[in-house]
Amino acid sequence: MKSLLHGVSKGVLLTALFFLLIVSPVNAGQQVSVDGNLVNVRSGPGLQYERVAQVNQGDKYDVLETRDGWVKIDLGTSSGWVAGWLVHTVQSSKANSQQTSKAAANAVRIYIDGEQAEADVSPYIDSNNRTMVPLRFIAEKLGAYVSWDGSQGMISVSQPGSSIQLWVGKKTASYNGEEFDLDTSPVIKEERTMVPLRFVSERLGCETAWNKDQRSVYITRKVNVEPEFEVTVSSQKANIRSGPGTNYTSVAQVDAGNVLGVLGDSGEWYEVLLPQGGKGWISKGVVYSPGEEPDFNGEPGDDSSRGNTGDRYCIVTGSTVNVRSGPGLDYGVVDQVARGTRLQIGESNSGWYQIALPSGKDGWIAGWLVSVEGEQGTDDYGDIPDPAVVTRTAIIVADVANVRQQASEQAQLVTQVYRGQEVPVTDQQGQWYKLSLSGGVEGWIANWLVATKEQPASQRDGKLPSRGEDPAKPLEGTIIVLDPGHGSMQPGDWSDPGAVGVSGLRERDVVVNIGETVGQILTAKGATVVHTRTGDTVMSLEERAGIASATGAEIYVSIHCNSSLSSLLAGTSTYYYAPANMSASMRASRERLAAVIQEELLRALGRENKGIRQEAFSVLRNTTVPSVLVEVAFLSNAEEERLLSTGEFQTKAASAIANGIIRYFSS
Ligand SMILES: [Zn+2]
Repeated sequence: MKSLLHGVSKGVLLTALFFLLIVSPVNAGQQVSVDGNLVNVRSGPGLQYERVAQVNQGDKYDVLETRDGWVKIDLGTSSGWVAGWLVHTVQSSKANSQQTSKAAANAVRIYIDGEQAEADVSPYIDSNNRTMVPLRFIAEKLGAYVSWDGSQGMISVSQPGSSIQLWVGKKTASYNGEEFDLDTSPVIKEERTMVPLRFVSERLGCETAWNKDQRSVYITRKVNVEPEFEVTVSSQKANIRSGPGTNYTSVAQVDAGNVLGVLGDSGEWYEVLLPQGGKGWISKGVVYSPGEEPDFNGEPGDDSSRGNTGDRYCIVTGSTVNVRSGPGLDYGVVDQVARGTRLQIGESNSGWYQIALPSGKDGWIAGWLVSVEGEQGTDDYGDIPDPAVVTRTAIIVADVANVRQQASEQAQLVTQVYRGQEVPVTDQQGQWYKLSLSGGVEGWIANWLVATKEQPASQRDGKLPSRGEDPAKPLEGTIIVLDPGHGSMQPGDWSDPGAVGVSGLRERDVVVNIGETVGQILTAKGATVVHTRTGDTVMSLEERAGIASATGAEIYVSIHCNSSLSSLLAGTSTYYYAPANMSASMRASRERLAAVIQEELLRALGRENKGIRQEAFSVLRNTTVPSVLVEVAFLSNAEEERLLSTGEFQTKAASAIANGIIRYFSS
């Protein structure tokens, strides 16, 4: 969840840890003094390693090595690891005498594709343990274009598909328009600009590895890899993305007819070399291989789920199903189709099919709401009921919000609406909702200024039936708040992305997709669902929590993805908050809600069980109804990031969360 905003104790703990690591860097060759009494010495750098000895407060030891915040100390006849936050460095005479040789010891060698690379200023490891190289090195050796804006201290490094900005003295960077936190900041040294090597080289598509014994960084330029085969682009202006999924940023576009070398694939996506250099990911649906003839709008794809090369059709199984402009719930609705409609299908992407509408236009439809002719039943990602046709209401969350003539911030003002007003939504276009105001007035409002309430159409008359009247609709009469984490607008007009995975997948985008699907399932079961956001939002965390009492909701479910400093951590966890001063029944409800959702998630996703945990997160602390915060999986883990990028995994997670909620209300 990378707690920019809602981290309470977790955030504080991490900050404290960073602080300790940064203010007292320990290096090999120094001496440390033990701070705690009877500090454990372990066989490796982490709490999971077994204890091999204990040391006492004030004892001093020579440092042999440091790693991940742990310090390897010389015990005389043996050695072991102590936590870096339980020792501090001491100025020994030995360390002083080694001051001059320390600079040399700090120097690092850099190998690019196996060959040692010389730099005009020696690369070195800074006090934050990051390898720093001269900016010119990046340009000359990695083939990127660099520029320097002295007035702002801004460094730009670019390559087709990658644009990086860094600032001297600032621990923030921007990559393809996204903000990133750095462990260290660029500096001016010997009149040269020194930048953190790993951050830059990895975003230029290189792999980096550190060999501590040789004090060497090995950089592998993936772009030098020979492509396995070539494909031809069959679609005009096909998007090249930074990762294998539509959730990833579009970094370039290629035209039909371009031939791209394929480096590898993941799901429905190829990793390709771009004509102008650099690399990125392209949907298999918009390319074809030599010898293959395009058979659908020139876009045959190489979809393994496709059994034959002829035309394929699907039958709509949902009662009234939205057709969207792209393969995902975040695309605008372009049309609706009724149950039983037969449609020709083209490419597939992340669980969605491109379809040809009767009007001749194209659109995308969710794969779980159709059955494809000639294919065995549906897949394994959950039992998603038909989405009922819902009525949507916008709840204004800004103090004052503009309603405009068109879906654009430039469009003329129609009127203004105020916090707390509830207005029916009649249409949606991208990030805008069309409102139907009193007196027949209509206009558009940006989705970050509203929360939305969705009700089954059967309740359009406003009467809320009571729970249990209809066994097919067990949640009838129940109001549920779904809160996809992050996406809060920040000063300077950017929105909190939450955790960002190694290949750039953003938590805020994944969780909004999951939230929307949970909402579809719950409304189909009769519930009234309030979404704190469907895009970005101007709401603070306290305001999000307040939505529950403002709407009379019975439960509040916040959806997040986890993130850790360790890329090895993986798994699913669910948090609740039930301090002793809370009533016993409220504490029991909160724990039970967490337990059923966690159980369903584990069963559906099959990831490691990280447990049901108590934590005083803002949204849990500030809700008066039973509330939980779900951490679906870890974006900082490469495998789970890949899973989280797929429509299938998002849908499984959504289905599991919905099942947990249904179980909670059924017992
Ligand atoms: Zn989060």
